[in-house]
Amino acid sequence: MTSALPETTAPPALDPVALRADFPILSEQVNGHRLVYLDSGATSQKPQQVLDAERHFLIHANSAVHRGAHTLAAEATDLFEDARATVAGFVGAEPEQLVWTSGATMGLNLVAYAIGNATIGRGAPASTPLALKPGDEIVTTAIEHHANLIPWQELAARTGAVLRHIPAHDDGTLDMDAAAQLITPRTRIVAFTHVSNVLGIVNPVAELVALAQQVGALTVLDACQSAPHLPLDLPALGVDLAVFSGHKMLGPYGVGGLYGRAEVLDALPPFLTGGSMITTVTLDHAEYLPAPQKFEAGTQPVGPAIGLAAATRYIDAVGRDAIHAHERALAERLGDALREIDGIRLLGDAPDAERVGLWSFDVAGVHAHDAGQFLDARGIAVRVGHHCAAPLHQRFGVTASVRASAALYNTMDDIDALVAAVAEIRPYFG
Ligand code: PLP
Repeated sequence: MTSALPETTAPPALDPVALRADFPILSEQVNGHRLVYLDSGATSQKPQQVLDAERHFLIHANSAVHRGAHTLAAEATDLFEDARATVAGFVGAEPEQLVWTSGATMGLNLVAYAIGNATIGRGAPASTPLALKPGDEIVTTAIEHHANLIPWQELAARTGAVLRHIPAHDDGTLDMDAAAQLITPRTRIVAFTHVSNVLGIVNPVAELVALAQQVGALTVLDACQSAPHLPLDLPALGVDLAVFSGHKMLGPYGVGGLYGRAEVLDALPPFLTGGSMITTVTLDHAEYLPAPQKFEAGTQPVGPAIGLAAATRYIDAVGRDAIHAHERALAERLGDALREIDGIRLLGDAPDAERVGLWSFDVAGVHAHDAGQFLDARGIAVRVGHHCAAPLHQRFGVTASVRASAALYNTMDDIDALVAAVAEIRPYFG
């Protein structure tokens, strides 16, 4: 008997050449060459649809949200809250589970400082389950971006908690045996990245969440490098809190999201206080609005939020499965080609790892900055340095690396241009 169902559920192919027409900057020339933009891990390019959405708001509806009684204010508030619902839906969440931030760094600091406030601030120390006490442990990993490391160092220093790190294997995957040993009943927070911004490897979120849940620890996910590239359902992943960054996901600068489970956002005190987050205020006391407004003191990035909603609509219209498949194919071609070039060492070359379209590599005998300049002279934009992950580079015995990071608009020609140029670096520098 033959089945009526299609044999494969492979995602429809994505046509990057057609998509590129939406990204005005990609037709720029750089140093006399076609721009080959392979730095989307640092910041993505923005399609016309995102630029138009923000511009349209500023031209036709700009006004203060949640404040004025006039028509424009109501319209701006509707657009702003619609944007919240769209972006929340993009990560599988309800609108009240999405707090606007200025980016992932802000989101992670918000969480760490709010937990600090739960510990030492107003509202009876230790009265909330989120409060820390000396000797409690915060577990992160040895491969984090500084944004998901330093706020925890600061929180540990302020509360007397102890910071521990899950190590990485030589191939860049996390040592999950060590994780199982490190996450104990003393652990109160487990904070980790979904996808490393240096290695491109997708970490085992479900296993880490399971280990944390066994001991009742709070989980905090850095979804910066997954949100633009993978299907993402934060409630289904089971994390308590997660952050992502607008400018890395085709959206504007200055906006990002903090997702939280409702109970966790309820229990978390505010970090910033002031206007727009209160119900009543006297000279001595203030009552706060519920989440998400409790965490949104002051004027919010309204235009950027509307732009970010347009970015998530754009990504969804292309299809996240298709994007992931396309970027994985780019990564495979790049990885295979770089392995063939003498003196190139890929960081995090785990054969079976799930990954996004990103590789960092060391060029033997050539400093990453020199390699970056050599590529830039050929119109190829990559990131060089430690990519805000200095401890990770120390772990792999280098101070800096070259990182090529792709997005939905990159073509196989971009990869081939990079590979051809990388092959010339060592001969050039002798
Ligand atoms: N976390 C990761 C994994 C990142 O790659 C970045 C950006 O480089 C950040 C956090 C910081 O993001 P933002 O620029 O939104 O503060």
